Amino acid sequence: MEQNPHIAFLPCPGMGHLIPLVEFAKLLLHHHDFHITCIIPTTGSPSKAMKEVLQALPTSIDHVFLPPVSLEDLKGAKPGLQITLTMTRSLPSLRDVLTSLVATTRLVALVVDPFGIDALDVAKELNVSPYIFYPTNAMVLSLLLNSPKLDETVSCEYRDLPEPVKLPGCIPIPGRDLIDPMQDRTSEWYKMFLRTSKQMRLADGIVINTFMELDGNAITALEEETKNLSLYAIGPIIQSGSRNPVEGSDCLRWLNNQPSGSVLFVCFGSGGTLSYDQMNELALGLESSKQKFLWVVRSPNNELANAAYLADQTLDNNPLAFLPNGFIERTKEQGLVVPSWAPQAQVLSHNSTGGFLSHCGWNSTLESIMQGIPIIAWPLFAEQRMNAVLLTDDLQVALRPKANEKNLVDGEEIAKVINSLMVGEDGKKIRNRMKNLKIAAEKALSPNGSSTKALADLTSQWTNQPDF
Ligand code: UDP
Repeated sequence: MEQNPHIAFLPCPGMGHLIPLVEFAKLLLHHHDFHITCIIPTTGSPSKAMKEVLQALPTSIDHVFLPPVSLEDLKGAKPGLQITLTMTRSLPSLRDVLTSLVATTRLVALVVDPFGIDALDVAKELNVSPYIFYPTNAMVLSLLLNSPKLDETVSCEYRDLPEPVKLPGCIPIPGRDLIDPMQDRTSEWYKMFLRTSKQMRLADGIVINTFMELDGNAITALEEETKNLSLYAIGPIIQSGSRNPVEGSDCLRWLNNQPSGSVLFVCFGSGGTLSYDQMNELALGLESSKQKFLWVVRSPNNELANAAYLADQTLDNNPLAFLPNGFIERTKEQGLVVPSWAPQAQVLSHNSTGGFLSHCGWNSTLESIMQGIPIIAWPLFAEQRMNAVLLTDDLQVALRPKANEKNLVDGEEIAKVINSLMVGEDGKKIRNRMKNLKIAAEKALSPNGSSTKALADLTSQWTNQPDF
């Protein structure tokens, strides 16, 4: 039997969840001689992006793809529901892989993504200590853990509440900004959300990708409430390096020729999409702002803001064809558009980048904080509206454009907010606050920092387990 402690990771489909989980795995290897196996549920062949991430992992991190499960009966269902059911339907094959790891290694923990919450039961059944890796902030975790209480006390839809929802240690959040599954209490998804909340309490610990200096009040309040559940705020964990050095080199070359801090990077995460009309308004706003921009363009979708979330981006054939006529030619001195994907971590760390128009996915948010880049908050789905509230109202490191009566953010508003962020007085204050947050993040990760200590606590839990 292998002697090094072994940890199994269960990510869910979707790059936004896979990336921080594998980065967490890499971080663990810096602290101890662990062996890690990522067990990956699938619905078909894995995307090129996913394969690149996994192939670049060090040899102490293995990966196993579980046999694909069928989602034939779920055509057109929301990605959140598809992901949850992919995880549930993969449980039998997960049990097989875990059973074989228990027999051949010193398996000390199973770390699951919250979408795979039912895997905690499988871990318990096999006497493996269950942990959750929560890939967003403490405010969202607090909402999840408090949702059964809210369900008992609130009688209307949360979005119709006259007052914002108050969670311990958190900034009040308007009901319409709560996470997607809480927007329709009659939905199957909401029921699953409540179930997830109750199941979370089965874990021995929850690892959160955040840090004390960012949402310490929410973490402390949560610690008070969840006495039997250890919380480990070990972030920010962000993507390190490029998964493919050739990909995106055009936009890095273009950035090399732009003045320092002059470029607004525009990107809606790994799968965010705009409606056709909204895409047009964004193009208008960027052009009329006269500010430099680098825009990752994805084909529009009028139905769903996360239509591309589970899709292979290399299959989005010609998104630039949806831009207004003549846009690329007219803005060729002002900006660059790239189809579908850019090396975001490198773009944000480039000296020419001065602002980030972002969908506020949590990884994108942390990547921006780590580079001290202020944000224009343009949330689309999942918990992104909550992240936008945190960034704009609490931390005050972002501006959020307002939608009009047709629920569109028009070009004029976009240009106004871009100018305010890139060259206005408000922008200066926001930029300074973001620089301070970057310093706080670096402190959390320093040898005596709060996140380093939390990680040391966690690894000692795993390495001090008795041999069996
Ligand atoms: N990303 C990237 N290039 C892109 C789009 C996204 O490298 O063109 C990366 C980004 O750096 C981040 C992740 O994909 O690490 C997106 O995660 P996030 O949580 O921000 O959003 P999600 O994709 O889950 O909506």
